[in-house]
Amino acid sequence: MILDGKALSRQLNKALKGHVDGMATKPGLAVILVGSDPASEVYVRRKGVVAGRLGMVHRQINLPADTSQDAVGALVDELNADPAIHGILVQLPLPKGLDSKAVVERIDPSKDVDGLTTRSAGLLVQGRPHLLPCTPKGVMRLLAHADIALEGKRAVVVGRSILVGRPMALLLEQANCTVTVCHSRTRDLEGIVRESDVVVAALGRPEAIKGAWIKPGAVVVDVGINRLDDGRLVGDVEFAAAAERASAITPVPGGVGPMTIAMLMDNTVQACTASS
Ligand code: NDP
Repeated sequence: MILDGKALSRQLNKALKGHVDGMATKPGLAVILVGSDPASEVYVRRKGVVAGRLGMVHRQINLPADTSQDAVGALVDELNADPAIHGILVQLPLPKGLDSKAVVERIDPSKDVDGLTTRSAGLLVQGRPHLLPCTPKGVMRLLAHADIALEGKRAVVVGRSILVGRPMALLLEQANCTVTVCHSRTRDLEGIVRESDVVVAALGRPEAIKGAWIKPGAVVVDVGINRLDDGRLVGDVEFAAAAERASAITPVPGGVGPMTIAMLMDNTVQACTASS
């Protein structure tokens, strides 16, 4: 089975639009882009298009790469105080010289629609989820929509970033999986993947997880987005070979990516609802 994130995100966005149409106060999303990283520009533009389509208030603020830490902080403060803005997202990575942790930490936790502040992360660790990081939240929605039972399953998350791997592992553990987290110093990644019923690949290495490693019947979620020299977009999993063994798998593109954006919209609606 293909886990079609594109189709599900369309469905979720449609339902959200209906919800937003009925809201007296429209949810407001502000996205801050510092510098001109081409991939970041594409992601930010996409978020703006979807927010607009859903009838949300959307502000994109572009700052030059040499913007000072204080100036970015002051902008976050301004958006924290703006009653028309319910969600603030700082597109990462920030240019060298800027302390992204400090910038993110400045976001009012009630507007932290990327789920990256220590408050959001702490609540997640405690099993009291508030605003969840969008990519792991999208993966859980995709699995739930496909009725994939997780309880008691052995899951491996490859990658331990604050943005994806770590919250992903927590959510799977909270869904009663037995979770192993792998990273760049892991020994015998292949052996661990071979034993796993659920594989989430978020390492950012094109096709590093080989199809032959996938346990027959396993569920494979590919978070990676890698642009090859020939222009092709591939995930972190060798898709064709993995699809032959997996019971369910996400494609790249059209799997986790659109779900991430849908969850950003979902979080913004949630933040707006909570504020009113
Ligand atoms: P990071 O670079 O922050 O983290 C990568 C993680 O993978 C690190 O924990 C690193 O280990 C680990 N890793 C790197 N190489 C290996 C290896 N050879 N074996 C095992 N583990 C390894 O990336 P992100 O978490 O931000 O993103 C991961 C991927 O997901 C990227 O391709 C990114 O583009 C994509 N992405 C996709 C999104 C979507 O919506 N689909 C959203 C966000 C990201 P260590 O900690 O030891 O360095």
